[in-house]
Amino acid sequence: MEHSTDMLIIGAGFSGLTMAIEARKRGIRDIAILEKADDIGGTWRENTYPGVACDIPSHLYSMATHLNPNWSRAYAGGAEIQEYLQKVCRDEGLYDLCHFHQQLKSAHWDGACWQVETEGGQRWSARFLVSAIGALHLPSIPDIPGAESFPGPKFHSAQWDHEADLANKSIAVVGTGASAVQFVPEIAKSAANVTIFQRTAPYVLPRPDGPIAPWVRDLYRRVPALPRLRRKLIYLIFEYRHRVFRGEERMVNFAMKMWRKALEASISDPEERQRLTPDYRIGCKRILSSNDWYPALARDNVHVIPHGVASIEGNRIIATDGSQTQADVLIWGTGFHVTDVVDRLDISGTDELTLREAWADGMKANLGTAIAGFPNFFILLGPHTGLGHNSVVLMIEAQVRHIGWVLDQMQRDGIRAITPDAAKQASFTQEMQNRHSDSVWQAGGCKSWYQDAEGRNTTLWPGTVSEYEKRMAQSGMEQYHPAPSQGGDR
Ligand code: NAP
Repeated sequence: MEHSTDMLIIGAGFSGLTMAIEARKRGIRDIAILEKADDIGGTWRENTYPGVACDIPSHLYSMATHLNPNWSRAYAGGAEIQEYLQKVCRDEGLYDLCHFHQQLKSAHWDGACWQVETEGGQRWSARFLVSAIGALHLPSIPDIPGAESFPGPKFHSAQWDHEADLANKSIAVVGTGASAVQFVPEIAKSAANVTIFQRTAPYVLPRPDGPIAPWVRDLYRRVPALPRLRRKLIYLIFEYRHRVFRGEERMVNFAMKMWRKALEASISDPEERQRLTPDYRIGCKRILSSNDWYPALARDNVHVIPHGVASIEGNRIIATDGSQTQADVLIWGTGFHVTDVVDRLDISGTDELTLREAWADGMKANLGTAIAGFPNFFILLGPHTGLGHNSVVLMIEAQVRHIGWVLDQMQRDGIRAITPDAAKQASFTQEMQNRHSDSVWQAGGCKSWYQDAEGRNTTLWPGTVSEYEKRMAQSGMEQYHPAPSQGGDR
């Protein structure tokens, strides 16, 4: 049976839900959300590892339309964020729009509508298609010779095996990214020992975390302006952090001082300090935030091997320096496929142009939101919308507001289909590459998931959030052309 709708949203995470709320506000009533899993939540449904939390304060990491006076701590844990999203979904009636266990198989523009098929066998026809699949959901597990011979439990941080008993076990962890700095301090509490394979040392800075007192939450419930004010203040402070990435000396020195103080407060051995000292400019990779990481590394049962993994032979893990470690459990904290995600998306637009062809020389989208050759298609958290300094929720909100305005204009002017202006997209892409060419992410002396296989940074927005918000607010229908539409009754 074929379903038909005005707007089909792929993914029921933060961005898909925000899009659905905005589209309804703009008068689009017929909306469907396809979700590959059995619940909403995206990242926050998938990541259940011990210690999972957001490294952006919760009052900022919430929808502007649904502030939450009840956040229990400054930096909420993953389960609380998931409960928040579920509540938003219930309050807004969004569960009724969701079709679970429906992973996108293919999407094809037929000249009037998007024709979509799911792995679950559903067929959809939709006037608008919105990709809200997020950037960080395909676990990346390195292809290490002999890994299959490891006899014990082995799993990725985003596919945590809660059945595996970690107490009194020898655990090997590969990777020292944002996920590992959260779960290592937790598992170290009960493990016999934890050995961490660190290919590149991260900068890990402390953060002002802690519970929010019940009386404060009560006050927030009674005076809604207060959580809004708190959100605004955090936003402004975090905008300031952009100066570190711009290389402003005073801010870089401040950040370096904070990092060094945190390291030296926990680690007294000069050689260990040296092993934990990054060899690139601060900001080149994501700056991590944790109050527990360095104290965990100071524990007697935690050891850092400052090398990657060369091979695995049974329960022996052999590092690139030749040292061998025995382990009962192996945990990959090795991140996600980001810039190569397109290989898995079968989407084709006008003249059967595939996304793979359109992105053959790197991911690109005008304003990070719409792709030339793909009518009535929007992508949330697309190329050049990631951030290192502030909350991506703000970027999603700027995108959906822009899409909302465009939908309004189309309705008002009776336009059925639009396609992004190719020249404007080319100029936006060029601007991004120019701005990135001497940025810390490109020239800071590191390799990161922000870059694609050719070394281009196609993921991050180089400016502040306020710059992006302004840019999106000033961008309207001039970014698009009416697309020839071959009729259709939607
Ligand atoms: P990640 O930051 O990409 O870190 C992956 C780690 O695995 C890095 O230390 C990397 O080393 C290492 N690695 C990868 N391949 C390896 C190999 N073959 N051998 C040895 N080490 C290897 O991944 P993540 O920690 O899962 O985090 C991904 C992103 O998710 C974050 O940057 C962040 O945006 C998001 N996240 C956010 C939060 C939050 O609180 N908001 C929490 C968790 C995750 P190299 O550095 O040498 O490449």
